[in-house]
Amino acid sequence: MRKYPKMMLAGLVFMSSLLFSLPVYATEPDLTDSGYVAAGPGAVQEDEDTTSGMSLGTFTITGYCSCDFCSGGHKLTYSGTVPKADHTISADLNLFPIGTKLLINGTVYTVEDMGSSVNGKKIDIYYDSHEEALAAGMYTAEVFRWD
Ligand SMILES: [Zn+2]
Repeated sequence: MRKYPKMMLAGLVFMSSLLFSLPVYATEPDLTDSGYVAAGPGAVQEDEDTTSGMSLGTFTITGYCSCDFCSGGHKLTYSGTVPKADHTISADLNLFPIGTKLLINGTVYTVEDMGSSVNGKKIDIYYDSHEEALAAGMYTAEVFRWD
């Protein structure tokens, strides 16, 4: 019986902490996706380069996976995400900041990673296995901006 008031108090503290945390929570969505890109380095908006569907030219495409050989033991991307096939690509972040969406051979990928050899007109596409990454080989493809 004596514990009852304490439980009530704990409940009130919990409720009020929830209330106080709500306004902070409400601002969270701004930090995701496009918001992050807009605030990121190299996110200078140039109309010519940000038109969705615009060709960015021909790039050299390679494949990689999360194995030690490809990624040096890093299981997460440079941006901290879990890499996903048909989604994650590594690019020159000076050209394409994290979060940039690019259309390559009919698939829309998102720049989430970088690599020491991925610079200029090069794109590294993430695969779930080293075999798939190897099988994809090296080829050239036209890359389009896709926002
Ligand atoms: Zn690999």
